[in-house]
Amino acid sequence: MKLSENISDTEKNIPCNCGCGFKKVSTSLIDKIQDTREHFSAAVSFNSCCRCFTHNKNVGGSDGSYHLPDINGASRGADIVVEGVHADEVADYLEKKYPNSCGVGRYRGRTHLDDRAKKARWDKR
Ligand SMILES: [Zn+2]
Ligand SMILES: [Zn+2]
Repeated sequence: MKLSENISDTEKNIPCNCGCGFKKVSTSLIDKIQDTREHFSAAVSFNSCCRCFTHNKNVGGSDGSYHLPDINGASRGADIVVEGVHADEVADYLEKKYPNSCGVGRYRGRTHLDDRAKKARWDKR
């Protein structure tokens, strides 16, 4: 299924990697990722998106992870890589674009984004 102009739910690492079939993503998160793609005019790939509770536990995700299904059964978090753009630059853009909201996490080679209402920032590089 097409989630936005350039993103579909069959994209590598959008569905939960345990094979359970969980692949619903919040539309507001997808809008933000589509915007990021357009801003950099570059493809976005996913390092991780949907995680069911079992898989999240297996990969050491936190209990409050936004990769887990929310009350609507959708993931609200994704770890993304913008082709040809350094992860720091992606995080800089997202922090500036959403100064008072969203979770933005810096990792080596990837950037976590989630659409939480309250601002959260972390650096695990
Ligand atoms: Zn799963
Ligand atoms: Zn993440």
